[in-house]
Amino acid sequence: MASEQTVSPGSPRSRRVSHRLGAIAESATLKVDAKAKALKAEGRPVIGFGAGEPDFPTPDYIVEAAVEACRQPANHRYTPAGGLPELKKAIAEKTRRDSGLEVDPSQVLVTNGGKQAIYAAFAAMLDPGDEVIVPAPYWTSYPEAIQLAGGVPVEVLADETQEYKVTVDQLEAARTDRTKVLLFVSPSNPTGAVYSSDEIRAIGRWVEDNQLWVLTDEIYEHLVYDDADTGSMPVLCPYLQDNCVVVNGVAKTYAMTGWRVGWMIGPPDLVKAATNLQSHATSNVANVSQRAALAAVSGDLAAVAEMKKAFDRRRHTIVAMLNEIDGVVCPMPGGAFYAYPSVKGLLGKEYDGRLIDSSADLAEYILEKAEVAAVPGEAFGSPGYLRLSYALGDDDLVEGVTRLQKLFS
Ligand code: GLU
Repeated sequence: MASEQTVSPGSPRSRRVSHRLGAIAESATLKVDAKAKALKAEGRPVIGFGAGEPDFPTPDYIVEAAVEACRQPANHRYTPAGGLPELKKAIAEKTRRDSGLEVDPSQVLVTNGGKQAIYAAFAAMLDPGDEVIVPAPYWTSYPEAIQLAGGVPVEVLADETQEYKVTVDQLEAARTDRTKVLLFVSPSNPTGAVYSSDEIRAIGRWVEDNQLWVLTDEIYEHLVYDDADTGSMPVLCPYLQDNCVVVNGVAKTYAMTGWRVGWMIGPPDLVKAATNLQSHATSNVANVSQRAALAAVSGDLAAVAEMKKAFDRRRHTIVAMLNEIDGVVCPMPGGAFYAYPSVKGLLGKEYDGRLIDSSADLAEYILEKAEVAAVPGEAFGSPGYLRLSYALGDDDLVEGVTRLQKLFS
């Protein structure tokens, strides 16, 4: 039975949730995705452009490896907290094959998705008050991971007029004597922007000149279109390798979002510290998932090549169709699977007698009226935009954007 006792102000019970967690908002991307899936489950014909999740199933050979792993009692047990030794070795080999970065397996920590790698990396790098420069629009979880680690995110905004890419001058203007880390993401979530090799070299040189660290999120490494000239920062700037953390995972490359396998690669002392954290927080990533990831990274890249063809086709369709809407301006993304149109031209107007004043209002309105789910720019530090993932079926994509066209015609 609940007690009738009143809680006196200032008592330990009056402080319910800690300040640290009380300041953290729910992931906006997962929230939109959950809402869209719940509405669908109720039978509503919602089209979800919300979460960045490939619509393809995980390739069969990976699923089969997991099925077989389930049958082996060894996989019902713990692995070392930092990951299966075979998987760490295979990740080191895959990294050499795909980006050209040479690393030892001891420099790899296998995590519960890329998200936990980001959290662990910031926890290992930051002391209270350390600043992290975060190019905006940014993926919604980065600032929260930084703040949970005691750090301070410092946003640097690059809008569509600069192809959503920050310049060295902007970074320099944001640098203070508390700056410790630059967060670098290419291809970018949410904008799909891809930095060229020269742009990456220039930013890497600035990192080095200022003796900073860099965390580079390479989760979309295989989703670069039009043969763009790009690369991995620690490969293009090898002098950074002792102060660089690379984050990656199997989710986007092998359509394995739900399996939750990512990793961080970094200098041994940092990886050791992050592994210690993981040994207390979660222990190893689910063994069966690690075995599936082992099959994935040991195999070829045929599946992602197929998916990329589909994403590329959808990219052209969605950008063309969005740009047909008066008030929407959508640049062509060079990578990942997100379109990030400015919707500023649609705001400040009444629709069905209702004033739509922000992209957050707009996202709500289109979900209600057109049953189309998209994530508002507010979630990415840039109001006035919507993020639409085009990792959904071609027919759904066309139907969803057609509904938007009709709504705003
Ligand atoms: N990275 C994807 C997204 O941005 C997955 C959802 C999430 O974890 O945020 O939608």
